[in-house]
Amino acid sequence: MTRRSCAHLETLDADQFGEPGTGAVYLLRGERTALVDSGTARSAPRLSAALRGVRLDWILITHAHLDHAGGAGLLAADHPEATVVAHPRTVPHLADPTRLEAGVRAASPDLFPYYGRPTAVPESRLRACTDGETLDLGRGVVLDAVYSPGHASHHVCWFEREGRVLFAGDAVGHHAVPVNLPLTVPPRFDLEKGLATLAVLRSLEPRTIAFAHFGVADRAADRLVEYATALERWIGRVAALRSHMTDAEVVDCILSEPPYGEMSSVGRHVARLCITGALASLPIEAS
Ligand SMILES: [Zn+2]
Repeated sequence: MTRRSCAHLETLDADQFGEPGTGAVYLLRGERTALVDSGTARSAPRLSAALRGVRLDWILITHAHLDHAGGAGLLAADHPEATVVAHPRTVPHLADPTRLEAGVRAASPDLFPYYGRPTAVPESRLRACTDGETLDLGRGVVLDAVYSPGHASHHVCWFEREGRVLFAGDAVGHHAVPVNLPLTVPPRFDLEKGLATLAVLRSLEPRTIAFAHFGVADRAADRLVEYATALERWIGRVAALRSHMTDAEVVDCILSEPPYGEMSSVGRHVARLCITGALASLPIEAS
């Protein structure tokens, strides 16, 4: 389940929702170590096994969605030496994941069992990061925190300077997974903020992008431009459909198209989230 992308970076497959190649967690090693994201609560035992014997200094949570933050409590319990670092608005949800759990149960009740129940991270183990703060792992591995709203208001990317690797969380969408819709999930996708974030990420001049869904990919600059275009087209299309359909009809219309018509139920649930989040992001007058 572990793939070594370069000397200090390993990709760990969280086997998200029971499917390989859909949810990645990244392990960075200098003199100290950092894990980017924690996978779901359900995938945490698998990651714990892969991380046995590793001293973790930091667990960096890109944002408070359960496929990124749900395993934080379990991994923190397994690694009492680690500090869990996240956006200031994510930190309270890690200390008390009750609202996160309720939000996912409401938005996607059929998908919730695949996430599993998150457990709390003790407050003494949590730290809020600031925009632009630096984390020095030693041996030349230096990470910068980049606030990156759009997918979620509390999203943080991490940028590894030497290799110019952008740990994108969900800010740059999907890569190499069955659902190729832009990641416009509920409750608060924001197109303008997402596009502004992509411009900020471009200015970092990353060489590669480490996608949470899934894997490390080159052509970083092109991918950032392509995702901005894809986001605008996608939101434009959903708005156009909603001008003459109800929200439910928009969902059914898109899910009836290939490849979603023949996709696994989990894939369809993820696609449905992207559609409902896009609908929820539209201005009221578009309805
Ligand atoms: Zn997300």
